[in-house]
Amino acid sequence: MGMRKKIRYCLCKWANGLSRWLNPLVLVFLLIIFILPLKSGSWGFFGHRHINYHAVFLLPPAMISFYKINIRYLADHAVDPDKRRYAIAEEAPRHYIDMDHYLQDPKDSLPKKWDDAVLLFSADTLNAHGIAPWWIMVMQARLKKAFRECNADAILKISADLGHYIADVHVPLHASSNHNGQKTDQLGIHGFWESRLPELYAEKQYDFIIGPAAYLNSPLHFIWDRVYESAAAADTVLKVEKKISKAYPMDFRFAYESRNGVVLRQYAAQYAGIYHRKLNGMVERRMRDAIHGVASFWFTAWVDAGQPDLSQLRSSLN
Ligand SMILES: [Zn+2]
Repeated sequence: MGMRKKIRYCLCKWANGLSRWLNPLVLVFLLIIFILPLKSGSWGFFGHRHINYHAVFLLPPAMISFYKINIRYLADHAVDPDKRRYAIAEEAPRHYIDMDHYLQDPKDSLPKKWDDAVLLFSADTLNAHGIAPWWIMVMQARLKKAFRECNADAILKISADLGHYIADVHVPLHASSNHNGQKTDQLGIHGFWESRLPELYAEKQYDFIIGPAAYLNSPLHFIWDRVYESAAAADTVLKVEKKISKAYPMDFRFAYESRNGVVLRQYAAQYAGIYHRKLNGMVERRMRDAIHGVASFWFTAWVDAGQPDLSQLRSSLN
């Protein structure tokens, strides 16, 4: 049996078996493993881990020892905010902002400060379309407070969370209402860009030698600039894939891979390579910018808290 026939045969067998087990419980399970990750996605476990981990190395000498001792916690807990999305209703809008929802030129109309934005649009509207940049400012204030209080556990927990939210706003599709290509028949593109491509290329090809963390005179303006960059890139993310998808048949674009005993439909590696090349380094650039952004936010909170001595701090989290 040829390879393609074999795969088709296996899939048919799998589908037949599946139909016998289709009951509401199984459907809920399938919804959880297939649909929800598509809707909620962000860099994925690999990407978020990677970003928090590498950010540690950009910190100044007075901070790096404490962060290095706790680097495993910061990496392992980089996806905690995504896990909370299923438990806490308010969590979801903290990870994105639909910039295309706002007027033609949102730069003129969308206030950078939360209170001003609420006056113009109402809190309900803002929450419905994502609040990522405003939430990052809340977390930044919390991190500054934790530094002032020299609260080791709080510093680590908030640093890990803040790293996640900052990384999320660097993903172009986190700044678009067409976040998973649902409006353009490109369902799955969210995970393709932010999980599949980094998993295939980050360790082999990306350069993670990045300059030291910078003090941010205005974290608020910095994060909004990153949001606008993402919003501007979202169009490219979608259009490039749309264009190449027309040149290749379905069975070239997708492959079935077994992961931990579960057969998953993935974008095929060869197709991923074509998309990755056409994006012209975009995923690497955004990942590097995210790492530098995370380190700079941590550093700025520490400076603004009066540069407390971290050398004696011990955490109970490890
Ligand atoms: Zn997220």
